[in-house]
Parts: sequence; C-alpha cells; structure tokens
Amino acid sequence: MKTTSFWSDDYPRPSDLAVVDEIPSEIDVAIIGGGYTGLSAARTLAENGTSVIVLERETIGWGASSRNAGITGSSLKAGMPTIFKRYGKEYGLKFWESSLDMLELIKDLDNEEGVDFDWHQSGDLGLAFKASHFDSMVTRAKWSKDNLGGDVEIVPPSKMRTKIGSDAYHGGIIDKHGIGLHPAKLVFGLAEVAARKGALLCEEAGVFKIEKKAQGFILHTIKGVLKAKEIVVATNGYTDRLVQKLNPKTFPVGSYSIVTEPLSKELQDEISPENHVFFDSKWFLNYFRLTPDGRMLWGGRNDLSTTLDLEKSANTLRAQMVRAFPQLADVPVTHTWTGQLGLTFDLMPNIGVEDGIHYAFGYGGHGLHTALYLGREIAWLLTGKIKSSPYMEIPHQTYFFYRDKPWFLPFAVSFYRFRDWIS
Ligand SMILES: Cc1cc2nc3c(=O)[nH]c(=O)nc-3n(C[C@H](O)[C@H](O)[C@H](O)COP(=O)(O)OP(=O)(O)OC[C@H]3O[C@@H](n4cnc5c(N)ncnc54)[C@H](O)[C@@H]3O)c2cc1C
Repeated sequence: MKTTSFWSDDYPRPSDLAVVDEIPSEIDVAIIGGGYTGLSAARTLAENGTSVIVLERETIGWGASSRNAGITGSSLKAGMPTIFKRYGKEYGLKFWESSLDMLELIKDLDNEEGVDFDWHQSGDLGLAFKASHFDSMVTRAKWSKDNLGGDVEIVPPSKMRTKIGSDAYHGGIIDKHGIGLHPAKLVFGLAEVAARKGALLCEEAGVFKIEKKAQGFILHTIKGVLKAKEIVVATNGYTDRLVQKLNPKTFPVGSYSIVTEPLSKELQDEISPENHVFFDSKWFLNYFRLTPDGRMLWGGRNDLSTTLDLEKSANTLRAQMVRAFPQLADVPVTHTWTGQLGLTFDLMPNIGVEDGIHYAFGYGGHGLHTALYLGREIAWLLTGKIKSSPYMEIPHQTYFFYRDKPWFLPFAVSFYRFRDWIS
C-alpha cells in the first residue's frame, strides 16, 4: 500500500511544466502557494498583463489541490439555511449564486482553455447516516426549493438501491449540480494555463520572511530575495505564522483518503449506477466516489489532527467502507494519504487584505470550487475590476485563545463526535 496520493501517482506533475529556476528581482504581484487559489489568481493577473510569480515551497500542486477527492457541488460549507439566517437574504442569495458561478468557472477550464480533468456532472447524493437525519434532509430540501428554487430529488429509503449499492443509508437527496473530477489533472492543467498566459511558476521557493517597505514588500525566499508591489497569501491549510495577523483567521485540519484497486465493471455499476459522488450526513462525514479508472475512493476526517499514522487511518477508513459496502471486503487498498485543509470558525471562506497583504483561504473542505473562484476574486481586487467581495464584507470570527497551534481541536472532536452519537 502506497502512502502517497493516488491522484498524483495516476497523473504526476508534467515534467515539461514551464517552471522558472530563478526568481526575478522585481515583480508586480508575488503569490505565496501553488494550489488552486494561487494558480487561479496568477492566471487572471497574467491575463490582465500584470507581472506575477507563484512561489511554491514544494512543487506546484503539492498541497491539498492534488490530493482532494475531486468532489464538488453547489453551496458552501456553512450550508445555505445557516448562511441566510446569519447574513440575511440579500447576502444569502449572493453566496448561493456565487457557489453556482464557481462550478461554471471549473467547467470553463475545459470549455475555454481545453484542460482535460475527467469531469462529469452526474449529481451528488447526500446520504442519511441515521433515519432521523433523513427527516432533516427533507426539511432542508424543502427550504432549498422555497428559497433558492433548488431542484433536488428526494430518494426515500425504499428507492436507495436504485442509486447506490449499499443498505447502510436511510434515504438521500440528489443535487444535480454535483461534479466529480480528477484533482491532479485540474491543478496541473491550471498551472499550464497560468504559465501559458505569462505567470512565472517557481518551485522549492518557500517564503520565510516578508518586510513591508514604503512602496511594496521584500520577500525572502529559499531561492533569493524579491521585491513585489503586492502579495497574495494562498496557503490555505498550510498557513503558518509567516504573516502574524493571518494565522488566527484559519486553522489546519487533516483529511484522509484511501483508494482500492480498480473494481470490475459489474461492481462499479452496482455501487454507483448513476455515477454520483457521495457524502453522508455525519459531522465527521465520509465522502466517496468512483475514480475515473473505477476504484473506490473513500475519505473522511477521522480525527481533525494532521498527524495520524497512514496505515492506521487506512484501517479505519477501510472498516467504514466495508460496513457500507460489504461487497468490497476482499478488494485490496492500494493508496492511503492525507492532506491539510483550512477551516475557519464561522465555516465561511475568508478573503481580504491585512497590512496591505491580500489573502484567500478557509474553504472548509469545499475548496475545489471555492479556491478557484476566490483566487480570481483576489486578482480582480488587485486589478481594480471589483472593489469588494461579499466574502470580505461579512464579519469573520476569530478568538483570543487561538494564535499559534489549534490546541482546542481535541475538545472540538469530542464535542462533534458526541453530536454524531446523539443525533
Ligand atoms: C484529503 C483531502 C480531500 C479533500 N477533498 C475535497 C473535495 O472532495 N472537495 C473539495 O471541494 N475540497 C476538498 N478538499 C479541500 C481542497 O483540496 C482545498 O480546499 C483546496 O485544494 C485548497 O487549495 P489552495 O490552493 O488554497 O491550497 P493548497 O492546494 O493546499 O496549496 C497551498 C500551498 O501553499 C504552499 N505553501 C505554504 N506555505 C508556503 C510558504 N511559506 N511559501 C511558499 N509556499 C507555501 C504549500 O506547499 C501548498 O502547496 C480536500 C482536501 C484534502 C486534504
């Protein structure tokens, strides 16, 4: 069993990706972090004629952007009913519509730029883990229909076998917006597009110090010193104390995945007859799907820590998978891996400007579509195409007790496990 991501094993970073070995002495915009956020911002800035460099500590796409499950759909992590309640209808609708624009932005990478990332929009199936969860899912579906014109299909327990080859769930809701894609093909394709438009991509160029000057910034990187008029921090789950004021705004949590060997065509058809992507209704949810080559990918946030042993994590995930799909009991697992995502206290993505430094992060496991979109929003803020964004207009919670390490996570884990148990 390999302890690296299946996706970049299946589709490694292209050896001919146009990266630069040396950094220039001056640039308009320096972007820190080479995942979806940073590359999307770079693409838009380069299109605008702005000189831009992406500085990545490891290799392009190394972070969560090449390791995620490749599952996306409408809405945001906090959920639309909560968002409407918290921010009111006007903002609620802005967030809802932007979540749909996010999906279009992903599809445009194929339709307009010719990037092939094996995407299919066959809908997502949200699964009731307990019978009581189904009732609240149906209530939410009704809310969605009334407030958003949501077009969802309610699947009662008796019809589940037509949608999924499992008896473990108590009904579900299909949202036709759900998309499955190949995350590594997406991130490397996006990098190629950004480079083609003129963005410089520099690997092994970790930034370890930033100095603010009267005009712009000096960045100290492993590859040398660079003067930039503007900086974008796009480090999401890998955000550290590089910019002190950003650290309390987001905290890293680990997400863990396994994949099996490719399944027979019969098993694939039984497990996912309509090729949906799936997630269940627990706080500590599991997400799963078939990969383009017919493996079962099964993931979850076992524990919010980022340091779980990958073999132990594989055993836990495998046991969960077999509980839902006993027919997979004898199928070997080939890969187990993890990556870090950025959470925020209000579960809303956070973008803005702090001490003159632009940032976008905190997508709460919904970063596939959100990161691309907010990377573009940051670029538009820098070029003046937009003056503000709803994502920076809402108040974002931070707490005095979190400045460095998220010591409170074990308490949060116990609390949410308890909620899963009693719900
Ligand atoms: C296992 C897993 C499964 C997931 N599944 C899904 C899913 O199915 N759907 C979904 O929507 N989201 C999912 N996510 C979340 C999603 O992948 C992320 O939200 C998204 O990729 C974030 O992109 P990003 O560019 O902001 O950050 P990343 O892709 O994490 O990139 C940040 C980069 O910053 C670099 N960096 C950090 N510090 C520095 C520095 N000082 N100097 C230079 N570079 C630096 C890091 O090396 C890293 O490469 C998942 C995440 C994980 C880990």
